[in-house]
Amino acid sequence: MSRDTGPGFLLRSLLFAAEKHRDQRRKGVDASPYINHPIAVAEILANTGGVKDSCVLAAALLHDTIEDTQTTREELESNFGPEVAAIVLEVTDDKSLPKSRRKQHQIEHAPHLSVNAKLVKLGDKICNLRDVANSPPVDWSLERRRDYFEWARQVVEGIRGTNGALEKVFDDAYAKMPR
Ligand code: ZN
Repeated sequence: MSRDTGPGFLLRSLLFAAEKHRDQRRKGVDASPYINHPIAVAEILANTGGVKDSCVLAAALLHDTIEDTQTTREELESNFGPEVAAIVLEVTDDKSLPKSRRKQHQIEHAPHLSVNAKLVKLGDKICNLRDVANSPPVDWSLERRRDYFEWARQVVEGIRGTNGALEKVFDDAYAKMPR
């Protein structure tokens, strides 16, 4: 069975994510619309990482829907197919774990992700570092912002060797650690 993975497929993913995140804002001081974040992740994968696989780009657009909205795996699977749903699930934190455990789990689990999930994870970490540097949450101390950078670096250590261009951009973002 052939499945559409052209521009229409990506726009459908974007529309679905925008509807799911429509009432959410980013935590940063500018409180930008949440959807700007998955758009930024997909954009960096396509235009910096040279990623052409529509399933990976769709997964980037949808990557926070299970974790941060009411979306289920089944819903992603029936709308976008099992490959996209599997990537999103791989990058979804288990919210039943306490936050410190989730953070440790990301570090330990990163090397075992599929290549496609590693790409989404890399894009996500780049965009999050940029957000923390440029528009940090109002209540984040300097120490908390620096801890976030350090944690992201540890996660990305387990992903290196996946995409040189994205890793370079991650290192550039990391170099802007708040001080
Ligand atoms: Zn994200």
